[in-house]
Amino acid sequence: MRDVARMTALDPASAAAALRAGDRRALARAITLVESTREADRAAAEALLAAVAAHAGGAARLGVSGAPGVGKSTFIEAFGLHLIERGRRLAVLAIDPSGARGGGAILGDKTRMAELARRPEAFVRPSPSGGAPGGAGRRARDAVTLCEAAGYDAVIVETVGAGQSETAARDLSDMFVLLVAPGGGDELQGVKRGIAEVADLIVVTKDDGALAGPAGDTAAHYAAALRLMRPPTPGWTPRVLLCSALERRGLDAAREAMEAFARAAAPAIARRRAGQALAAMHAELRELLQARLEASPAVTARRAELEPRVTAGALPPSAAARALVETFLAAS
Ligand code: GDP
Repeated sequence: MRDVARMTALDPASAAAALRAGDRRALARAITLVESTREADRAAAEALLAAVAAHAGGAARLGVSGAPGVGKSTFIEAFGLHLIERGRRLAVLAIDPSGARGGGAILGDKTRMAELARRPEAFVRPSPSGGAPGGAGRRARDAVTLCEAAGYDAVIVETVGAGQSETAARDLSDMFVLLVAPGGGDELQGVKRGIAEVADLIVVTKDDGALAGPAGDTAAHYAAALRLMRPPTPGWTPRVLLCSALERRGLDAAREAMEAFARAAAPAIARRRAGQALAAMHAELRELLQARLEASPAVTARRAELEPRVTAGALPPSAAARALVETFLAAS
């Protein structure tokens, strides 16, 4: 990976050209570069992103979330193949909430979406590089940019909906699609309700065989619940659809809903993207400042002096924080 990063670092212009020409390995290398947490790779990553910036923004961005086992990878694979049959190209980026490379990865299984991954019209990034928790989501934004520059018509950002990780899918997408499995009772509360509230489309999976009946009930239940909620995207009324990825049914309706959303919610999508870009800037700013603060010897020395006074209750935490900021500003 280091060699790869160094090669790309030497020449962001040719890396950008290869990526734009549809070279999937160049795209994979570029994503590895922007995900790198090494300080030395940041300048190269930023040069590459600047070189492709003018070619980004052209894809439909879909966030797909759902609990483990709900059928995300099966759905995305079937849906992706469906899009390809209609002449589209798509990229799939998985964001792993564990934030770690290797052990504990929920979405990291390389065998997921194997058929889709083999298609030249698709790019599947099964396992994101880790780094600091939260870092994966931040870098995924850059990965979306790179996929768009590579000419994909749709970019799917997949996360496990386990409470808060689904926000990454939402923060990076135009349309948030929630997958739910048949059954599960008729109480829609807490976390489940919170996620349903921000969904533009709810897809009930596994609508086949013995699960077809429960799937219909679940869809009716969610449709009733949605009617009582405020739609998250101006111009668009959320829909509930049934799908069997196994039998490849319901995919047309899902595609149609996504196309209708793009038409109906265009002004809201533009505003959403602008807001997401600003939020990303602020997140980056906080992180950069924090890193600078922690790297400052003057701040470290002053902290060692102030912390015992804070823990002893002799100095209010807010006053100590202010003093540390003053120390930092005076030293920089
Ligand atoms: P993920 O963890 O959300 O990515 O879920 P998977 O796509 O790996 O699917 C979990 C399980 O549900 C697997 O055993 C799939 O075969 C099954 N499954 C997925 N889609 C369907 C479907 O459309 N119908 C049925 N009957 N089973 C499905």
